Amino acid sequence: MAEFSLIERIRARAATRGDVLLGIGDDAALLRVPEGQALVVSTDTLIAGRHFPRESSAADIGWKSLAVNLSDLAAMAATPAWASLALTLPSPDADWLDEFLDGFLELAQAHEVALIGGDTTRGELSITVTVQGFVPADQALRRSGARAGEDIWVTGSLGDAAGALKQWRQGGLQSAKLRYRLDRPTPRIEAALALRGLATAAIDLSDGLVADLGHVLEASGVGAELDLGRLPTSRTLADHYADETLRWNLQLAGGDDYELCFTAPPSDALAIEQAMAACETSATVIGHVRRERGLLLRTPEGEAFVTQSSGFDHFGEAGA
Ligand code: ADP
Ligand code: MG
Repeated sequence: MAEFSLIERIRARAATRGDVLLGIGDDAALLRVPEGQALVVSTDTLIAGRHFPRESSAADIGWKSLAVNLSDLAAMAATPAWASLALTLPSPDADWLDEFLDGFLELAQAHEVALIGGDTTRGELSITVTVQGFVPADQALRRSGARAGEDIWVTGSLGDAAGALKQWRQGGLQSAKLRYRLDRPTPRIEAALALRGLATAAIDLSDGLVADLGHVLEASGVGAELDLGRLPTSRTLADHYADETLRWNLQLAGGDDYELCFTAPPSDALAIEQAMAACETSATVIGHVRRERGLLLRTPEGEAFVTQSSGFDHFGEAGA
């Protein structure tokens, strides 16, 4: 199957939308940006063996390659609109492509995202997705807005994906629930839109809480204290990782959560709880912003805690 027929296969299944004046098929797409809104653009690449296990299903790879990009739009409180897809495949495999599109387009449809173009080449499996969305410029959630005294929140629960990755690496029994969280992350779009005008700063958690919150603290010129006893933990993670220290390390440095971490004044806590309830997303206060730089981690007993590592290099070469 030639490159052209692969593109034709993609075009035949890609939905469109009213603001796409010209989609797949010409030299470039022609798009209309709504008046009064800023265009928000983000790109992320996924490489086999580095960002997902090589044996991952094509559908999971398709889902995740869009999910991690939509997660970046969520972190800016942008409404997703369009995506382009640069695919590098070892061989022009129509069956693999169909399955990949099952996952990719399922998530695209859920958020009314139109696939508006891309590129198709041959080489080691790698997927680069660019997403575009809209936000009124003054409502975008930046990393730089956190102020001393504010609460630090996270959506959902932390550590499931890292727990799955650790099980996979060890080659033993794997929890299907944890693995699902690794393969099919949920971009927190609805929560992010509900946080416009409420959150003061936001980031999505791709590299691990300590590393990503660190970016917010750095950009905002502040520090923070986190209460490890408040880290939101799924029952499945607690069942599989009974050891607290190990679990905290997964939650603090594991990565691949794709939850939102955001800050807001304590006076807005009730409004945030209501906004999150309205979009059926859980959100938890895990600490507060401090004037003093640095990140303090406290156990429920009040002792200082040091993580094993402060960032996550995804699968690393060794684990792939
Ligand atoms: P060009 O040589 O002008 O770059 P291509 O053959 O790469 O043209 O692409 C032809 C059309 O198909 C373009 O509209 C492009 O955006 C679209 N396209 C190519 N690959 C993909 C893909 N993987 N997903 C979606 N659209 C694609
Ligand atoms: Mg091209």
